[in-house]
Amino acid sequence: MVIRFITFAVFLLATVAGWSQKPYKHCGADMVQQQFRRKNTHFDEAFFSSTEKARSSVKRSTEVCTVQVVVHILEGPLDDFISNAQVQQEINRLNFAFSHQNPDTNDIRSVFDGITGESANIHFVLANVDPEGNPSNGILRIETDLLGFGEVSSILSEAVKETAFGGSDPWDVSRYLNIWVCNTADASGAPIVAGYATPPPNLPNWPDFDPSELIDGVVVQTEFFGSQISQAQKVLIHEVGHYFGLRHIWGDDIDCFGNDGIDDTPAMADNSAFECPVQNTCIDNIFGQDLPDMFENYMDYSFPDCQVSFTNEQASFMSWVIANARPNLCFGSTVGVQKPSAFNFTIQPNPARSQLYIETQKNIKYSIWDVSGKCHLTGEGIQPVVDLNSLPAGVYLLKCTYNNQSSAQRFVRIP
Ligand SMILES: [Zn+2]
Repeated sequence: MVIRFITFAVFLLATVAGWSQKPYKHCGADMVQQQFRRKNTHFDEAFFSSTEKARSSVKRSTEVCTVQVVVHILEGPLDDFISNAQVQQEINRLNFAFSHQNPDTNDIRSVFDGITGESANIHFVLANVDPEGNPSNGILRIETDLLGFGEVSSILSEAVKETAFGGSDPWDVSRYLNIWVCNTADASGAPIVAGYATPPPNLPNWPDFDPSELIDGVVVQTEFFGSQISQAQKVLIHEVGHYFGLRHIWGDDIDCFGNDGIDDTPAMADNSAFECPVQNTCIDNIFGQDLPDMFENYMDYSFPDCQVSFTNEQASFMSWVIANARPNLCFGSTVGVQKPSAFNFTIQPNPARSQLYIETQKNIKYSIWDVSGKCHLTGEGIQPVVDLNSLPAGVYLLKCTYNNQSSAQRFVRIP
């Protein structure tokens, strides 16, 4: 896929002049979907039938779930320094937004009084223990020589999430919300996205994409994390909304039929294009009312200062997602205390010329990635022999998956 820097880039440049001169894509959710669409020709069919199912499936959880957050900060030579206080400030912003306690909720137009005001019952804390039980402040700082973790030829680079590629391996994704802060710049120096996130698999309002395609968590471009500029402070909230299963409120479709699978979000013919337009582009019926376009919603692409709220059903849905799709994420949950045992395999020879032997007794799936995050080969089997003849010489990562556990090793292909 060719990444297009569409209108949002222009708006960002126009409205936040002086803060950044680089073009960005507002959010990578469509790229996450595109990544899946390449692999599944039934994507659109599955997507539209699944959005319908979401409407009847939500049951609200009333318990507050405390989510432990680990922030991986990739500090490149040209990146702004982000202090621990700035990290805590982002956590505070999440807590205000997800409990509807942010001061700017006063800015919501009164027409939306009936569909806003409820808390998602999600509370965020920086993790104070790591997965092995050692004390931590929940902030990892990784110095890198890389100017950016993006890559032009692939949709999204996942290199930032893997130590072997110069990034930082996630903490147990079932028990921690992993946030990576980095420069998403590609080889040309242009950041690809302001942020992107992985919703849980198999949600009723999202396509049934394979979660092993992407490492679970949230990625945020450095300038959008801990910023003192108000327009840069909504990206993490929006992306964590995706992480808990929310879709864009206009349904990612340029007509009135786009559907985010949530009952009380007003229908919109398109996103608000980085503005706060007072308009009603679609007729809808939300508890008996035809509501206008809701530029106040965190899941719109409106001017960030206007984004001040989730709707009650969005809050309910996230609460439902926690209970049903991310049950081990609530700190203190008894479900997720056991750690999956490590899954190991060996490879030989290394370096390898034309064939690589993967030694394991398990029926594994494998994939081979280059250092830019591009996947070259995939396959599966017990003790598979991989034909390397199509690979250019270089350093690669072999990732093997068995029974939802993954493990990776580096190898070198020689000519
Ligand atoms: Zn988005």
